[in-house]
Amino acid sequence: MGVQVDKADLRKTSDADLLQFLSDMGEKPFRAKQIKEWLWKKSAQSIDEMSNLSISTRNKLNAAFTINPIKVDHFQKSNDGTLKSAIKLYDGYMVESVLIPAQGRMTACVSSQVGCSLTCKFCATGYMDRARNLDAGEIYDQVVTVHNQCMEHFGTPLTNIVYMGMGEPLLNYKNVLESVEKITSPDGLNMSPKRITVSTAGIAKMIKKLADDEVKFNLALSLHAANDIKRNTIMPINETNTLPALQEALLYFYQKTGNKITFEYILFYDFNDSLEDARELYEFWKRIPARINIIEYNPISEAHYKNADEKTLDKFTDFLTKKGVNVQVRRSRGKDIDAACGQLANKN
Ligand code: SF4
Repeated sequence: MGVQVDKADLRKTSDADLLQFLSDMGEKPFRAKQIKEWLWKKSAQSIDEMSNLSISTRNKLNAAFTINPIKVDHFQKSNDGTLKSAIKLYDGYMVESVLIPAQGRMTACVSSQVGCSLTCKFCATGYMDRARNLDAGEIYDQVVTVHNQCMEHFGTPLTNIVYMGMGEPLLNYKNVLESVEKITSPDGLNMSPKRITVSTAGIAKMIKKLADDEVKFNLALSLHAANDIKRNTIMPINETNTLPALQEALLYFYQKTGNKITFEYILFYDFNDSLEDARELYEFWKRIPARINIIEYNPISEAHYKNADEKTLDKFTDFLTKKGVNVQVRRSRGKDIDAACGQLANKN
């Protein structure tokens, strides 16, 4: 699949290489700064947009480089205002991005990989093969795209970003961190890292690496079961990244960074919704200062899991609240357009 692209992607070109190119072409070094500004701050989708460069400079750049743009192939709007965009990448692959509007909070949910290699049993993306990692620029562009949609449809800017779309962000570590760096940089979108949450299925070694790299963003763990036997059945990654290993890595992350940690817990009917499950979740939570989001599930055709009923949900959350846990129930958004958590699968 895909189109052969032989020119270098300008956004992936290092500062040193760009300076060398400009010098070889007899151009002044300050052009590099102008070009970088177009690439990130002004989110140019083509070299021709760089209007403060002469036509001859643009021609020289066009001969050697390209900017691999992303394009909204189509989008759907949910009854609750959620917008899901099918994004076409330069080589023809598709990913999905979602805008979740709420009172005082406009959140972009972005993808980090085409497909996913982690095969979580309840997740539609997990039934797709992982085709490739997204470049930092492709992740960045999703944020810009969703921000523009936010302005257009709601007249307000984006406030938050979650890396919870397609793919496991920590398996595309370098590009995810580079995208965050550009999103938070004054030379990029200048957003606060406190407004960014990277969500992982749980790769202990990489969580520790985040801590060692002293990242400033928040971390979410897709936990969904606080019992290794149960978690192994829905998330095979748990076989090699057990709960004790994750607990140790998260504690290390918290102690080193002090950044917020959230546990995401989908309450599946008759699987992880008993009071014994709540007790196990409490025991897991006790050592790590985290808040817990209980998430409503959206059944997918590939799996047999169902959403827990309301009475069970209330009992489960009451148990945790009485134990002093900061627990919130997250109602599903964008269900009718398959934009909700676990439903992203390029269906259209
Ligand atoms: S839940 Fe996340 S890590 Fe698991 S299969 Fe889906 S996209 Fe991959």
